[in-house]
Amino acid sequence: MPVFVNRSLNLKKIALIGFDMDYTLVRYDADAFEALAHAMAGRALARDYGYPEEVAGLPFDPRRAMVGLVIDKRNGNLLKLSRYGKVKAAYHGLEPVDFRVTHETYQNVAVELSDPSFAPLDTLFAISTGVLFSQLVALKDGGAALPDYATLAHDAIEAVDLVHRNGELKSVIRADMGRYVIRDPLVPALLERYKDYGKKLMIITNSDYEYTKALLDYALDPYWKAHRSWREVFDLVITFADKPRFFERPSRFLRIEPETGLMSNHEGSVATGIYQGGWFKPLQRDLGLDGREILYIGDHIYGDVVSIKKRCDWRTALVLSDLEHELESLRASKDIQARIDALMEKKEAVEAEINRMDLERYEGRRTDRAALDRLFEDADRMNQEISELLTELRAHFNPYWGEVLRSGHEESRYAGQIDDYACIYMTKVADLYEYSPKNFFRPRRRLMAHEFL
Ligand code: IMP
Ligand code: MG
Repeated sequence: MPVFVNRSLNLKKIALIGFDMDYTLVRYDADAFEALAHAMAGRALARDYGYPEEVAGLPFDPRRAMVGLVIDKRNGNLLKLSRYGKVKAAYHGLEPVDFRVTHETYQNVAVELSDPSFAPLDTLFAISTGVLFSQLVALKDGGAALPDYATLAHDAIEAVDLVHRNGELKSVIRADMGRYVIRDPLVPALLERYKDYGKKLMIITNSDYEYTKALLDYALDPYWKAHRSWREVFDLVITFADKPRFFERPSRFLRIEPETGLMSNHEGSVATGIYQGGWFKPLQRDLGLDGREILYIGDHIYGDVVSIKKRCDWRTALVLSDLEHELESLRASKDIQARIDALMEKKEAVEAEINRMDLERYEGRRTDRAALDRLFEDADRMNQEISELLTELRAHFNPYWGEVLRSGHEESRYAGQIDDYACIYMTKVADLYEYSPKNFFRPRRRLMAHEFL
């Protein structure tokens, strides 16, 4: 798959490439991983939060949520937003909210994600939360004895958080890596190529050292050509980084002894080695690099991309695995889209003619009522045809939410964030393998509305 470019990026000028680990350097089978997280979180709610027993056995349909959606805690809704923060689609529990009701509820709302009544699904790790929350709302509306929507949101988020942190989830993953982790030999090949070209390599992950080691041993170490271990390849590894805070506020680095995992206080340079915690300022100082010489690649739109662009002026790359399916669907539905475009063009010509006749009538020059009516009928017929084609088009995408990167005609909020903050984006890290480590990524010239004339 190609790499997509929002802003020019000259890899020749990049001295250090930093990688997020989970869902970036190491890919998971997201459906399997999230099914597990969903089941464990449901069980935790029944066991520790006094939720009814049926919450422990809810079915998991990953299509019920996708990255970029936003939980509205107050109203019990899952929302899809346009890049301007307008609500374009909503589900209440498992039912779509009628267009008119959506409009009434949100007509004066431009959703600000700093508002704590909203919680964005910023990574594939949040799919389980979105699905679980919708199911809890549906159960509550069906009469189950459950707390208010805001508490349901809070508890769903906390339960997923809990199973990530208490080792429950990770121990199952580690016991069955083959089922959950997707290995790709092109990733180690890419890393070795970068090393050959003199790039420094770094990992900044929110995972702890023990898990990081287990995952990298499994996913990378079998495939090296000129190295024995990932520890020789990465100059710097920062675990338990607590992104986005790693980019936001001071925190101390602890040095990790790689064999034993033992930690000790660390004073002095952090330009090489394995650490826990810390923050980006001393790191960048010790590396002696300008922010524009560092490229960071991650999958979490806020923690790995937006926060970096806002705080440290590094160059950014987003990995969006859903894009692979989205591109396939776009390809498969190309003919339908072309028919819609052609009909829209025809409709616009009819509307231009209606405008012209309307002006004639207004100025008292001529009124051919019958001709005008015929034009309105033509426009209606075309609308009907377009609407049927749109239904056909939608069948190619997520049945509940449609495209990840569009909200109807407009770009989705998620697409807007990618556009604003990610210099480049791709379906997976291995997509970079096709490009020389000296490649100059150039964006396409973009058109404004008047330039389409
Ligand atoms: P990264 O993508 O390499 O920064 O690592 C993400 C880490 O965060 C993984 O260890 C995940 O298990 C963990 N994680 C993801 N979601 C949550 C959560 O909701 N609470 C706590 N940890 C999480
Ligand atoms: Mg990640």
